[in-house]
Amino acid sequence: MNEKIIIPPVFKDKHVKAFFTTKSSGVALKDISRISSVPPDKIFMPIQKHTDKIALIESTLYPVIADAVITRETGIVIGVQVADCVPILLYESEKGIMGAVHAGWRGTAESILRKTVKTFVDRFSCSAENIFIAMGPAIRWCCYRVDFDVLSAVSRATGPGDYCITSVDKYCLDLPRANKSQALRSGVPEKNIWLSEECTFCNPVKYFSYRFARGTTGRQGAFIGRI
Ligand SMILES: [Zn+2]
Repeated sequence: MNEKIIIPPVFKDKHVKAFFTTKSSGVALKDISRISSVPPDKIFMPIQKHTDKIALIESTLYPVIADAVITRETGIVIGVQVADCVPILLYESEKGIMGAVHAGWRGTAESILRKTVKTFVDRFSCSAENIFIAMGPAIRWCCYRVDFDVLSAVSRATGPGDYCITSVDKYCLDLPRANKSQALRSGVPEKNIWLSEECTFCNPVKYFSYRFARGTTGRQGAFIGRI
C-alpha cells in the first residue's frame, strides 16, 4: 500500500508520536492503529461540529462533541479529521501534554487554538514557551476566497497578521497563517511552530478537499500520542 503520512519536524526528538495522514492513509481506525501501533479502542476522535469545545481525555474514551482534544495519558492516540480545515497538533515538552485541534473558519473565529493553549497553561500549568505546534495541510489563500463576514469574524478573533490578501471586494484567507497568529499572540514562540506549505485544494490527488469535491468527500487527519 502506498501509504503516505507527514511527520512534522517540530516534534523531532520529543518522545511523542505525531503525524498527519493523507488520502491514502485516511482516518479509518484500523489504519491509524497500524500506523501508531495502538489498538483501535485506544484511539480517540471527537464528534466535530465546528465548535470551540475542548475535550479533556483522561481514562474514558467515550465520544463527545468537541473540536479540540487534550490529554496527558500515555498509551492512547488523540486525533481530529479534516478536509480543507486546519489540522493542528500541540505538544508541551515539560509535562508531556498533547493536543489536537480542528480549525475551520468558524473554529478560528471562536479562537479555538488560543483557547486550547490557554487550557494547557491554566489547567496543566504549562508555559506557552514549551508548547510546540504543527499545522498540517489545509486550504490556503491561493484557493480560499471568502466573503467579508467570514474575514471579519476571523480578524476579530485573531487581530492583525499576515493571513489575508485583499483586493476590490475579494478576500482570500489563509487559515493556517491566522491560527499561527493566534498561537503567537498566546505566547508560543515562532520557532516552535511548523506549518505545512501544502494546500489541499491545490493537491486533490494527495488530499481530500471539501471545496474541490464540492461537498461529499473523505477525510484525512492529525494524530498524536505518547505510546
Ligand atoms: Zn491552493
